[in-house]
Amino acid sequence: MQYPLPIARLIDNYMKLPGIGEKTATRLAFYTMDMPEDDVEDFSKSLMQVKENLHSCSICGNITESDPCEICRDQNRDRSTIMVVEQPKDVMVMERMNEYHGLYHVLNGVLSPIDGKGPEDLNVKSLITRLQQNQAVKEVIVATNATPEGEATAMYLSRLIKPAGIKVTRLAHGLSVGADIEYADEMTLFKAVEGRTEI
Ligand SMILES: [Zn+2]
Repeated sequence: MQYPLPIARLIDNYMKLPGIGEKTATRLAFYTMDMPEDDVEDFSKSLMQVKENLHSCSICGNITESDPCEICRDQNRDRSTIMVVEQPKDVMVMERMNEYHGLYHVLNGVLSPIDGKGPEDLNVKSLITRLQQNQAVKEVIVATNATPEGEATAMYLSRLIKPAGIKVTRLAHGLSVGADIEYADEMTLFKAVEGRTEI
């Protein structure tokens, strides 16, 4: 027997989420059917709102409700340091650590020739423009993940930025090879930032 179309569609949509297979999607779809209507309405609205109310910061590329983002606007932050990360969620992780007080730049990915991802697909140009317009920046910390792509991206950025006389550093390898910043605990991250080395 086939599921009625609304259920089948909901199952298909749940399956678009990472780590959700058909079995889980089916369970979630039936669960949703049993939820109070108010909750479902609230749920569907929150899905729309992440698309409608969140934008990329025109300076750093982080996700934000207002442009420029809170971090870029904050005059108390150390404007001599920019930490380059792969994803907006890496900014959240670093901020939770509460030890880094500089600025950020979100690349939105890493160089990956296999996936056809080159510098033009990342927020590299905006980083260079930002550095050219901001003489206050003395150090760029490349905090891409310790994967081959993350390393290659760090080397690429280093070659690009160093000639401008700006120090380029890389997080210390408290993070094991292949490790994602996302999954590092706060102490490991703190040590990785503290022990950063010039590249
Ligand atoms: Zn920003």
